[in-house]
Amino acid sequence: MIAATEIKVTKAEKSKLNEMDFNHLPFGKYFTDHMLEANYENGEWKTVEIKPYQPMLIEPSLMALHYGQAIFEGIKAFKGNNENAFIFRPYDNWQRFNISAERMCMPPIPQEIFIEGMKQLIALDINWIPAKPDHSLYIRPFMFSTDCQLGVKASETYKFMIILSPAGPYFAAPMKIFVEEKYTRAAPGGVGFAKNAGNYGGSLIAAKEAKNLGYDQVLWTDAVEHKWLQEVGMMNVFFVINGKAITPSLEEGTILDGVTRKTLITLMQEELQIEVEQRRINIDELVDAFHKGLLSEVFGSGTAATVALIKELRYKETIMEFDTTKANIATTLKNKLDAIRSCTEEDKRGWMVRV
Ligand SMILES: *Cc1c(COP(=O)(O)O)cnc(C)c1O
Repeated sequence: MIAATEIKVTKAEKSKLNEMDFNHLPFGKYFTDHMLEANYENGEWKTVEIKPYQPMLIEPSLMALHYGQAIFEGIKAFKGNNENAFIFRPYDNWQRFNISAERMCMPPIPQEIFIEGMKQLIALDINWIPAKPDHSLYIRPFMFSTDCQLGVKASETYKFMIILSPAGPYFAAPMKIFVEEKYTRAAPGGVGFAKNAGNYGGSLIAAKEAKNLGYDQVLWTDAVEHKWLQEVGMMNVFFVINGKAITPSLEEGTILDGVTRKTLITLMQEELQIEVEQRRINIDELVDAFHKGLLSEVFGSGTAATVALIKELRYKETIMEFDTTKANIATTLKNKLDAIRSCTEEDKRGWMVRV
């Protein structure tokens, strides 16, 4: 195995930092001075290096482009007090990355490369983390197959990379959501629990058609009955019914095991004394609860948005509207998580990992 100390570092000759305007940071558009790159061949990871962010030369026959062995993660780092940087729950993302890798017939990545490499990379580009409220550094680890040939099989070579992008505050208006009955994101036995690139490609059309109808995103339902709720766009989803939080359970393998999802569940159970149920949930139950006045909040959860308020759900002809100014649980969770991540509230559970 490769120790972090064996990572070869080539520094950029000139930093792009002084060309940056930290007041205008469209999500994922600008990248820091360096990137990490590791190559897998003959059954092992080798040549781990940190080098200047730069274009890659690839062959047209690169297998990832044809057969889609490509997975990724999304993580955030924050500036704490005293100029220290902290990464939020990176070990959870490392574990999930390897679960995605296994499903896609790709090799696991050792902690020494994923976590230690990430820390070294961030340490080098630490000045790229805007020291401003609600700002962060978005971390994008990813892996793809690199054999160059067109026979369909699992590739024998892979590239693992980490790139970093400074991120501004995530201002999101409360969302209008369309309950999807035509397209499917995931089915049991499929790849819904993996963070693979193709899940995103396959879901774009549903979001596009929802937009044409005036909605921001879709609420995915199961592949067979189109009744059982899964996720909202590319976020996990929570419903507050009669004061209890309900979120779809993971065992069918159709939902991503979100780090934000489990963080919110812990905060609700241990800090807010709110009961959380992880189970199958049917759209008819939701509509029924709405008509009885029991469905008070609906929100999404993910690394980019943290907690995303939802103001409208549409299922067939039924329009369910919510007053998001009264979404107390979602708002409390968002504020609490923001406080932990900006180091203004104590991190009791070791979620913030120092770079
Ligand atoms: C990344 C992702 C999420 C959110 O996961 P977090 O770990 O909370 O960022 C939810 N659903 C899907 C489909 C995703 O790809």
